[in-house]
Amino acid sequence: MPSAACSAGDPLPEIYAAPVQDLIDELGRMPGVGPKSAQRIAFHILKLPREDALRLSHAITEVKDKVSFCEQCFNVSEGPRCGLCLDERRDPQLLCVVEEPKDIVAVEKTHEFRGRYHVLQGAISPIEGVGPEQLRVKELLVRIPDEDITEVILATNPNTDGEVTAMYLARALKDSGVRVTRIASGLPVGGDLEYADEVTLGRALEGRREVEA
Ligand SMILES: [Zn+2]
Repeated sequence: MPSAACSAGDPLPEIYAAPVQDLIDELGRMPGVGPKSAQRIAFHILKLPREDALRLSHAITEVKDKVSFCEQCFNVSEGPRCGLCLDERRDPQLLCVVEEPKDIVAVEKTHEFRGRYHVLQGAISPIEGVGPEQLRVKELLVRIPDEDITEVILATNPNTDGEVTAMYLARALKDSGVRVTRIASGLPVGGDLEYADEVTLGRALEGRREVEA
């Protein structure tokens, strides 16, 4: 029997040096990066001049060392509270609930909202196994009485997960006495807030309606 032959059950021999494979594995854990993209990015990094590659690594270190999440709204923040929560000119009784910090940027660009935010850090997704307990829902429910909130605007994305999340929150807030509204339709269905233009999103905010839960 020739011992060099591989049978079908054998694991694949190591193709890449371990550091390269580690990089591919780490990149492959990023959202939206499949194995092929991970491999392509890894080889791009390998070919980069050393200082360019280290700039990327430095940016990652900096963001992990200096930035965390606001203890009040869970937006990204350099201190315990983010600039929006600390801004006393904003209406403290009006709360806009979004999925991710990038959605705050989209809402801010409309100049239609002068309240504060709550970032869920995701959306309920039965397919991906994400339930309300993995999101900042508990923290939201605590804020309503603590901060004497009068209106919660549900500005989750206009796609399936975003709608499921909005309905869940509307039900959870039903007995809290707070006015619960959802940004109006007219946004591109299936999309993300960040892809809506300012005018459309501004109108959706203005045209928000009470949610029947
Ligand atoms: Zn904040």
